[in-house]
Amino acid sequence: MSQALNAEAGWQYEQYTPGFADYWDDLVGWETRLAREGAFYNRLVGAHGAKKVIDLATGTGVNAVSLAKAGFDVTAVDGSENMLIKARENAEKYGVKFADSRAVDWLELDQVMGTEQYDAAVCLGNSFTHLFDHEDRRTALLAMYRVLRPGGMLIIDQRNYDDMLDNGYSSKHTYCYTGEGVDVGPAELHRTMARFQYVFADGATFQLKMYPLRQDYLTHLLEDAGFINVERYGDLQKPYYRNDVDFIQQVAYRP
Ligand code: SAM
Repeated sequence: MSQALNAEAGWQYEQYTPGFADYWDDLVGWETRLAREGAFYNRLVGAHGAKKVIDLATGTGVNAVSLAKAGFDVTAVDGSENMLIKARENAEKYGVKFADSRAVDWLELDQVMGTEQYDAAVCLGNSFTHLFDHEDRRTALLAMYRVLRPGGMLIIDQRNYDDMLDNGYSSKHTYCYTGEGVDVGPAELHRTMARFQYVFADGATFQLKMYPLRQDYLTHLLEDAGFINVERYGDLQKPYYRNDVDFIQQVAYRP
């Protein structure tokens, strides 16, 4: 089965069709991924004294479920209802309950969530790079800022696009967040487009389009939205060598 997804005309979360949502858990590789990063995020959020956490890109729930299992009060949102359906099923499977879960576009996050404010917000799994427009990124970050309480923390991660653009794609696969038997690589890669292809063991093929966000640009955007004290990690560690990590994590605070 081959399913080239064309999201050119629609919002990026429309790429997550029910078919892709079904495959996503294999792609994500929950167990290995949580073994590697679950404790890091739980510790980071916990050390900040957070209780109320919003997962802004819940997907099928890998981080939201892990945070809920760790005892945080988790609100799970995502632009894709297809993904949220899976996330709710996964929450039940792992014996946790979300405080709330709903389909929300980041661009309308603050309007939809009203006066609700959170101690921490996470936007993980390379999700923020689904936005292709500079002004949309600014609007989304401003909305994320507004749903945080003063002193609240935002964590965003992304692939190391700087390295891919400057030196070509070569994942060490130690921090690639895919499960077993999934072959992933860029089908198109240049300054304005990173189109990734995922080939599953049964031959199912999907593509996702992402914007190759540079890390300095994201830091700038975070500061532009009003966030302060932006800290960066490379593959969950700091300091890190810019060209020697697969993923970058940025942690920012609302003053
Ligand atoms: N965090 C999950 C994980 O790591 O498995 C999901 C990551 S998936 C790459 C990206 C998610 O971001 C998708 O579930 C998609 O629906 C969501 N997304 C993309 N653009 C969005 C937007 N503008 N508003 C809300 N969610 C969006």
